[in-house]
Amino acid sequence: MAVPGIHQIPVPTPFYVGPVNLYLLEGDPLTLIDCGPATDEAFEALNAGLAAAGHRLADLEQVVITHHHTDHVGLVNRVIAESQATLLAHEYTRPYLKDPEQKREFDLAFYIEVCREGGVPPRILQSIGNMTRWIEQFGNRPIDIDRVLHEGDMIQAGDIAWQVYHTPGHAGDLICLFDASRGVLLASDHLILKISSNPLIEPAPVPDQRRPQRLVEYITHLQRMAVLDPSITFSGHGEPIADVPALVEERVAFHHQRADKIVGYFDDRLCNLWQVTERMFAHVGDDQKFLALSEVLGHIDLLETRGQLQRVYQDGVVYWQRC
Ligand SMILES: [Zn+2]
Repeated sequence: MAVPGIHQIPVPTPFYVGPVNLYLLEGDPLTLIDCGPATDEAFEALNAGLAAAGHRLADLEQVVITHHHTDHVGLVNRVIAESQATLLAHEYTRPYLKDPEQKREFDLAFYIEVCREGGVPPRILQSIGNMTRWIEQFGNRPIDIDRVLHEGDMIQAGDIAWQVYHTPGHAGDLICLFDASRGVLLASDHLILKISSNPLIEPAPVPDQRRPQRLVEYITHLQRMAVLDPSITFSGHGEPIADVPALVEERVAFHHQRADKIVGYFDDRLCNLWQVTERMFAHVGDDQKFLALSEVLGHIDLLETRGQLQRVYQDGVVYWQRC
């Protein structure tokens, strides 16, 4: 499923997800979508991918970052230093680029607070901190962007006008780009063919707002992409997607079924986030528990939105019960 002028460049990552796809959009301006993690292996793979398409890093004129996750952004400093390309990202990605250490520490403090309220034991909090700091070594150093993107903006890239869709869910800052003339969607991690994107726990992008209900948002923004009915969709990981409406239907059904299963655990008891997570993901190692907690909290939010669960506070811990 090739589209003229679009080159998918898979680069290795040190993460469980496997390689991440970067995209080279040929034409005016010569544009790279995402940068890969900050490893020499990823840098070599990026250079090899550019060379295979007949280009060099120094030729790049524009770089667009789809969201702040390390596998998509780590190499941005090297790429911009060698190309002097213009850097574009969503306004919510900006703090992660400008002051990554401060922003990630802020986020970590938020995860810890949510987990404490969820009755998560101290050993897991410790392992979430360790994991966050391990991931950070593959992340970016401070860098500012040249153009701040918002929902509805147009970007000229590779001879095409792309529309920016802000699609929070997997990450609060995630953007998709859509070329309406050919029906091409660059979906980043919003849609992945073989993996259901995990809606991760994150603080609100604007201070003092409530914790975003990431799975609920994710479902809303999946449905927006289904309405576009793209002819082809390129993903942040894995193969292109031919039928987005069918995949979205499958994903939305999966999340509602998982929510049905979770509500079944409750009977007449009160359960906190940790108790539900242990019931559902007991087999998952401590180093992956943050993903499991995010997944469960997302579905608890969905059940609250569906009017099936309500919260009860006891001794600083949030419990949930059936309505
Ligand atoms: Zn990714």
